[in-house]
Amino acid sequence: MAQKICIVGTGYVGLTTGICLAFLGHEVTCVDVDQAKISALHAGDVPIYEPHLRELMALAAENLSFTTSYADGVADADVVFIAVNTPTAADGSPDLRYLRAAAQSIGETLGDRFTVVVNKSTVPIGSGNWVGAIVRDFFEATHPGTPGNFQLASNPEFLREGTAIGDTLYADRVVVGSDDPRALEVLSNVYRPILDQTFTPPAFLPRPENFGVVPLVSTDLASAELIKYAANSFLALKISYINEIAQLAERVGADIAQVALGTGLDTRIGRRFLGAGIGWGGSCFGKDTAALITTAREYKLDMPIVAAARETNQRQRELVVEKLLEELRIIKGCTIGILGLAFKPDTDDLRDAPAIDIAQRLISRGARVRLHDPVAMGRLAREFPELADCLRDEPAEVVTGADAVVLATEWAQYRQLDWKALAPLMRSPILLDGRHTLDRQRLTAAGFRYIAVAAWNPP
Ligand code: NAD
Repeated sequence: MAQKICIVGTGYVGLTTGICLAFLGHEVTCVDVDQAKISALHAGDVPIYEPHLRELMALAAENLSFTTSYADGVADADVVFIAVNTPTAADGSPDLRYLRAAAQSIGETLGDRFTVVVNKSTVPIGSGNWVGAIVRDFFEATHPGTPGNFQLASNPEFLREGTAIGDTLYADRVVVGSDDPRALEVLSNVYRPILDQTFTPPAFLPRPENFGVVPLVSTDLASAELIKYAANSFLALKISYINEIAQLAERVGADIAQVALGTGLDTRIGRRFLGAGIGWGGSCFGKDTAALITTAREYKLDMPIVAAARETNQRQRELVVEKLLEELRIIKGCTIGILGLAFKPDTDDLRDAPAIDIAQRLISRGARVRLHDPVAMGRLAREFPELADCLRDEPAEVVTGADAVVLATEWAQYRQLDWKALAPLMRSPILLDGRHTLDRQRLTAAGFRYIAVAAWNPP
């Protein structure tokens, strides 16, 4: 049954969720405090780069509205999803000011009908109760004498930028948590078309072959909150683990690509997230591993495995500088090109992107840096104006006269470059493949000295 849904925060998560739920037939209002975003959405523009999102938005248009007014979205909603940003504060804990502001505005604008207020943002364990208390305080302050008619739930999000729609419509699982059975019931109804796969897939994103029903994990509030951190930290561990093995592989003369393949084919382990390279980035793994450690500390627990995964990840970035130093001897005055800026392909998200960190490390050692990305350059100029002069429109401009080039994001476009034409443009044709993604033989035949973060031969 179609529900009235309000989504608070129209970023990567909120906008994708809102559009997908509207596509499934729910009546969705997306609220954001950013007037520019809402104006862009009114004009039919999607303010982030996410494949097919604009097309799905057009398909869902009649069920979808955008506003900066909480009253318009919250007052008669069955479900209010909070999807605001929860960045990391200076001490490693999540900065909850946006969540607090959203909870306050929801409390002020809730109506009389039963509403489920859902944390979709990744929030520290216990935040459900905390948000509930804020909503209640502000509801009572603005509705004296009226008892609040809402319940709190958690619905952690697992989508990946770049494949966000597929991850939502064809999810591995849906997790909902609440201490109130009614709230769990409402949420399972919201997700029913996804759980039972009863919707007609959009033409551009067919249902994967043999895709069955989607499991629902319906649990208490604290368990749902912990599932998100446990899942993200585990994925981060996997990447750091293979990066640690990659360093040993290089020392003993083993090929990390073969080691990862032979390890990952064990179904208990799985092949995904076993790609050695410059490590993870993005808005989630760094933030969520830090938050898990901080939460554990509040309970007098150490998380040494998670802490080590974070250290290894930092080391991978410095390793790029070390590898370049080995090759060039002196980095000062050298020109280094970086291809790929977004933290992964198919997104323009630059949060905690390894490429930016590596560029800054190289600049601080006196290198001149040139940067290119197929979609994230506009965002880089806005968010890192100090690097704007380093941007170049074409990969050829990045490599011309360069002493080395680093591939930092495995965009498909870079695999297809005419590397043969690029090699002669460089002062010294050194290519450091930070994602272990290019064809070593092809690059070598094109005239490059091909190096990687750890010794590997593409299978
Ligand atoms: P984002 O920064 O892209 O979007 C957040 C949006 O919230 C922005 O548009 C901002 O203007 C809006 N906002 C901030 N304060 C607001 C308020 N008081 N009222 C209304 N709108 C407000 O963030 P995101 O990447 O979508 O992440 C949102 C949450 O989801 C975070 O907790 C994140 O950890 C989690 N998450 C993100 C991903 C991902 O891949 N990006 C995946 C899973 C979970």
